[in-house]
Amino acid sequence: MIDTGTAPDYAAAEKQLGQVLEIVDRLETAALELMESIEAADLARAGAQREFEVLKQGLTVARAALGARDAPIRAELTDLLGRRPAAADGVPVDYRSPYAYQRQRKRPALVNTREQMCQTCQTRIPGQRIVETTLARAVHTCPGCAGWLLP
Ligand SMILES: [Zn+2]
Repeated sequence: MIDTGTAPDYAAAEKQLGQVLEIVDRLETAALELMESIEAADLARAGAQREFEVLKQGLTVARAALGARDAPIRAELTDLLGRRPAAADGVPVDYRSPYAYQRQRKRPALVNTREQMCQTCQTRIPGQRIVETTLARAVHTCPGCAGWLLP
């Protein structure tokens, strides 16, 4: 009866079979989409891995270049620090204490000005101080941060 399609529940079985085939079809489609996603992710990962290797190589080169520059700079710094006490002795006594005060407060000893403003503390500098500093007639400090004005 089943072979001939005359069984009483043949239509129901056929309907269920159709539903099962639809489910299988949807699952196969989903599986294919997942496999495509996995392939795309693998390709992206491989590309990222190659890019990472290139960047890693660049970092190694940059570190080597930095290391090559480091030694001369450290040698120069050691030399300059060794000469610093002798140079400090040459500074007029009147400037030593303010300089030490600035260093103690971790402020720059020398400050730039632009448009009558201290570039360190943004305090307005009197015009007369700017003129005298520019003409090298006097040594003035910023009224805000006490740094010596640079011409
Ligand atoms: Zn200042």
